[in-house]
Amino acid sequence: MRILLTNDDGIHAPGLAVLERIAERFSDDIWICAPDEEQSGAGHSLTLNRPVRLKQHDARRFSVTGTPTDAVTMALKKLMPAPPDLILSGVNRGANLGDDVTYSGTVAAAYEGALAGIRSIALSQVYSSEGMADAVPFDCAEFWGERVLAPLLDAPFAPRSLVNVNFPPLPAEEVKGIRVVRQGFHDYARGSVVEGTDPRGFSYYWFGLHGIEHTPGHASDLEAIADGYVAVTPLQLDFTHEASLTPLAERYLV
Ligand code: MN
Repeated sequence: MRILLTNDDGIHAPGLAVLERIAERFSDDIWICAPDEEQSGAGHSLTLNRPVRLKQHDARRFSVTGTPTDAVTMALKKLMPAPPDLILSGVNRGANLGDDVTYSGTVAAAYEGALAGIRSIALSQVYSSEGMADAVPFDCAEFWGERVLAPLLDAPFAPRSLVNVNFPPLPAEEVKGIRVVRQGFHDYARGSVVEGTDPRGFSYYWFGLHGIEHTPGHASDLEAIADGYVAVTPLQLDFTHEASLTPLAERYLV
């Protein structure tokens, strides 16, 4: 089985090394192509206005001066002699839960793989700035990764779908298990805009993630993480809101 690894935290991110160790339990044919710098929040963006540069670090390890989508595109169209059987994206530093998934470069890299018809899975390690001294408990992902991935390797994946995995912010031995759950949602518009003054006296603005509120429940990924479970969520690329098709079409009847 040939596996392509990518992420949005960059080629040197600790989470990518964790993912590599997880992937090595399944295969020794592992390719890596990731952004050269952190691209968290890049979503599904594709670099169009400037060239992308490629750097080779090893026989099957590359980085690109672009987004996670650029990295997957380069791997599939330029670097790999044959398509991979599996694309793994992550392990992201931080959650990709609820309606955050469209901001996520980690999830978008898996979207890109799904578009190419390849089995694709995004993995993220949730961390809590309270109580864990800002440490990201990647041990949790490393311990649970194999157990979560093994059943996904021969599970049927519908065309244009992918799987989003989040590991809870707990030591591995405190995780209660694995739940397959739907995508949740936040209750309010995301985040905050922090204003400051730069050393030359000019204002700057920095988007923060605090202040996001959500109500776990709804049998969602947010609830599974809050309850101490690994959350496994199948996602689809088709954003169509089915229930609105007919009522909207009726608006155009003459
Ligand atoms: Mn990230």
